Amino acid sequence: MIKSCYIHIPFCDTICSYCDFCKVYKYDKWIDLYLDNLEKEIKNNPIEFPLETIYIGGGTPSCLSLNQLERLLKTIDNLPKNNKIEYTIEGNFESTTKEKLLLYKKYGINRLSFGLETINTKLLNKINRKVKKEEIREVIEAAKKIGLTNINIDIIYGIPNETVEDVEKDLDFTLSLNPTHISAYSLIFEEHTMFTINKEKPIDEELELEMVKRINSRLKEANYDHYEISNYAKENYQSIHNKTYWKNEEYYAYGLGASSYKDDKREKNSRSISKYLKGIITKETEELTNKDKLNYEIILNLRTKEGISLKKIKDKYNIEFKEKYNIQNLITNHFLEEEKDNIFIPEEKWYISNEIIVKILEGEKDG
Ligand code: SF4
Repeated sequence: MIKSCYIHIPFCDTICSYCDFCKVYKYDKWIDLYLDNLEKEIKNNPIEFPLETIYIGGGTPSCLSLNQLERLLKTIDNLPKNNKIEYTIEGNFESTTKEKLLLYKKYGINRLSFGLETINTKLLNKINRKVKKEEIREVIEAAKKIGLTNINIDIIYGIPNETVEDVEKDLDFTLSLNPTHISAYSLIFEEHTMFTINKEKPIDEELELEMVKRINSRLKEANYDHYEISNYAKENYQSIHNKTYWKNEEYYAYGLGASSYKDDKREKNSRSISKYLKGIITKETEELTNKDKLNYEIILNLRTKEGISLKKIKDKYNIEFKEKYNIQNLITNHFLEEEKDNIFIPEEKWYISNEIIVKILEGEKDG
């Protein structure tokens, strides 16, 4: 039974220098046409079971006009939903108005996710974003006032020339907003972004590690649970939608470049906006064998503090994980820990989780 659905709105009012997401400049005529085709895509691929999570991501969904947002939310309103749904919309502070917040509330949205990234003016210029502290505070206050109190804030660290003190200031400000959830992402230099085109240099690895340590300890002090490599939540506010991904459960996805996982297939819509606007959706399909599913399960589960449940792996794949993978050495050297039914990477080793996962997969025994 599929319980989650992702809907992609690729429009942005500015393009950030590091961004490799599926996004395009906002252009009103395109948005209207996009919504026509999104409605068709949803209608042609109906949802069978009541959803427990919906996530409208982007792009910057909040940059749509009030009318365009209402049209989108009306379409989504027709989907089968559970009463206790977690319903999230992403956005930036600049384009979020009181009217849009009221509209979100009217259509049952109960979680907001904002990209703050940094409050340092020089760094904001570097990543091509503009946002003012007062503007941020006003939006957060307005949201809380109308009952939208479940709020995530994204921050980014590791921007070229950023110092640990800059990260501290971003944390001070973010914590002063008292969000229920914080995502802290390290800046990744992706191909074909302005950062790589301009040959910007990534920060030193040791400095980045110092930033990670500072973020972890500050957020822990403020009672945020570090439950996934980049995610921190107050009690009872972990992202249910994102946990669908990390638990390797299936989900629907609609919109430009969106990736779904169902019927043992991962399907990715093409990123061509011109085709999408003509109603042509080409998909890249990855048919998954049991082995592929198990690999995804290991990779995704180990992003979380719970890690892998040995029982779940046994029930789903009929294997004894500790017999199938040669992990004793990793346990002895504290790269993996074992507690009751779970095998997990300890928090202080999350910065090398990719290397640890590769070692686990290489340690697979035959048969
Ligand atoms: S707002 Fe988000 S999706 Fe849009 S360009 Fe910036 S990082 Fe990319």
